[in-house]
Amino acid sequence: MYAQPRGGWIEVVCGPMFSGKSEELIRRLRRAIIARQRVQIFKAALDDRYSNEEIVSHSSLKLQAIPVENTSQMLDMLDERSEVVGIDEIQFFDADVVPFVQRMANLGKRVIVAGLDLDYKGEPFDVVMRLMAMAEYVTKTLAVCARCGAPASRTQRLVPVNERIVVGSTNVYEPRCRMCFDPDLTQMMQLDLLSGIPRVNTSGTDKGMGKERKPESDDKA
Ligand SMILES: [Zn+2]
Repeated sequence: MYAQPRGGWIEVVCGPMFSGKSEELIRRLRRAIIARQRVQIFKAALDDRYSNEEIVSHSSLKLQAIPVENTSQMLDMLDERSEVVGIDEIQFFDADVVPFVQRMANLGKRVIVAGLDLDYKGEPFDVVMRLMAMAEYVTKTLAVCARCGAPASRTQRLVPVNERIVVGSTNVYEPRCRMCFDPDLTQMMQLDLLSGIPRVNTSGTDKGMGKERKPESDDKA
């Protein structure tokens, strides 16, 4: 795609859920495998949505991957002879992953990482943010907004849970554009649950054109 830098480099593929990040990672790694390069692929062990030893895109492309729980495990499993290292779901890793990736690139390896750039509140994941700044190449993938069909850069959580990481797929998340994204939705749902006000499931009906659901201030009490 470009003239290759001397030595190693970092590529970041990031975007919301359902934007084809894993697909793009798999595509690049496949090409390296076809080129007979030594390729090693890691993925965060906590992401067990589909399969434990493979990275799988939503469209079911697969590639064998080593599941690891943290950066030090990845370091243990690293084959020094690897020329290309792929890491999927990079946002699940601890802060040590940033110097780890940097070091691998400094050692002459091509490191390709894929993951979410933003959490369900629309805030950047720290490790991804830092790797994006350090990378030679950054690719942002966009999904299609589930509400209005515009290019989607955000991941909307549809369940009232406050933890930053809730592993799940289509029932829990949907891609949305900037206009349709509502970072406070889960919080409002929780308040509704507490106050006992029934709320229409936002993922089903009311797919208005870019009109986001606002909290009704005139709820009949
Ligand atoms: Zn939209």
